[in-house]
Amino acid sequence: MTAQLHRRMVLTGLGAAGLTGCATTPSPTPGLIRPTFQPRAFAPLITHPGRISRITVCTRPFRAQGPRIEAETVGDKRVVHNYGHGGSGWSLSWGSAAIVRELALEGGPRQIAVIGCGALGLTSALQLLRAGAQVTIYAAERTPYTRSARATGVWSPDSRIAAEASVSKDFADRWEAMSRRSWQDHHAFLGVDGDPVRFIDQYNLRGGSADTGPVGPAPETGSVGFFRSGTRLNGLAPWFREVSKTEHPFPVESVRCGPVMTFNVAEYARQLTEAFLLEGGRIVQRTFNHPSELATLAEPVVVNCTGYGARALFRDQSVTPVRGQIAWLTPQPEVTYALWYRTINMVPRHDGIVIQANGSSQMVGYGVEDETPDRDEAERALEALAPLFA
Ligand SMILES: Cc1cc2nc3c(=O)[nH]c(=O)nc-3n(C[C@H](O)[C@H](O)[C@H](O)COP(=O)(O)OP(=O)(O)OC[C@H]3O[C@@H](n4cnc5c(N)ncnc54)[C@H](O)[C@@H]3O)c2cc1C
Repeated sequence: MTAQLHRRMVLTGLGAAGLTGCATTPSPTPGLIRPTFQPRAFAPLITHPGRISRITVCTRPFRAQGPRIEAETVGDKRVVHNYGHGGSGWSLSWGSAAIVRELALEGGPRQIAVIGCGALGLTSALQLLRAGAQVTIYAAERTPYTRSARATGVWSPDSRIAAEASVSKDFADRWEAMSRRSWQDHHAFLGVDGDPVRFIDQYNLRGGSADTGPVGPAPETGSVGFFRSGTRLNGLAPWFREVSKTEHPFPVESVRCGPVMTFNVAEYARQLTEAFLLEGGRIVQRTFNHPSELATLAEPVVVNCTGYGARALFRDQSVTPVRGQIAWLTPQPEVTYALWYRTINMVPRHDGIVIQANGSSQMVGYGVEDETPDRDEAERALEALAPLFA
């Protein structure tokens, strides 16, 4: 820790270990308890580029119409599609899988093949198994090699999920139902060994001399008009609040803080895989090159959770790649807060500290399929975060 930061922490009362984030005191209004927030300890993030252990890139499977969740007949198979969740695949996984479960079981037969072992494949397979079906997952890759393993790991149900102008009339209702169902189901993994899901206080920082605007790749031209949830999920997640200067050490003008749901993706995927296998599911490594190959499967019902892979497999050009990159810093278990500053997201996870530079608009990475890591992009993000800890 630098002497300056230490002094700042002492000045703000943050030097003492073990201070809590929130305590309650009786409010003057009888019958009400008003929370008062106490300063907490902030371990500084080490922003040196030498801490980068890897850089991962993946393509979000974006569809202007929103995720494809519907049944069709391909040859003699009933195929239920579940792909195209943009930047919201982990967030919406359980709710999407709940719809898929109904569609898959509607046909009658209970022998089901799930293609894909990412967030959507695992949650669909588990729900079907728990509904009494016999389920086999067929997938080219399993965790940690899926695109799902390269996600930031935050609750982001409306991130590049659809284009406002292209969705059907019932999309917003369906999206809301998926979000609410998923939010509830993720809670089953809170407090579990390995913290597959946990809440972390995120500090959204603005202003100050070092804040010269968004950091990240330049956005692609054009505008998609991404779907916005508006007020639909108001009241679902905990609130953000303004934080006074005495409660944080950051040299910025305004700070808002609130608990965000985060996913330790490595652990979450491992636990989902383990549960699926322990409860009687089977996983087979297999790559499909054409939908006609589905005919070789023994199962009469196929659930298609191939994510971005659906573009090639089902020749679905409506799946648009949206490139996203994460720089991974070696873990710092003492960093227990997340940050949003100059559109850079920092999330501390057990498997590393995630640094994602989001740039000035959601058009960043739109239509870009290239999954080559960009070291400069990663270092620019660290450079932008450094003044917060200098
Ligand atoms: C940088 C970045 C950050 C993100 N952060 C978040 C976040 O914080 N929160 C969030 O909710 N979402 C986030 N997302 C989005 C999320 O990662 C995706 O929506 C999600 O991973 C999609 O999951 P999936 O299961 O559909 O696809 P995938 O994870 O791609 O899984 C597809 C599966 O299908 C298999 N497959 C594909 N094609 C074939 C084939 N032809 N034959 C056999 N098997 C095949 C693959 O091997 C794999 O097992 C992020 C995305 C990016 C790029």
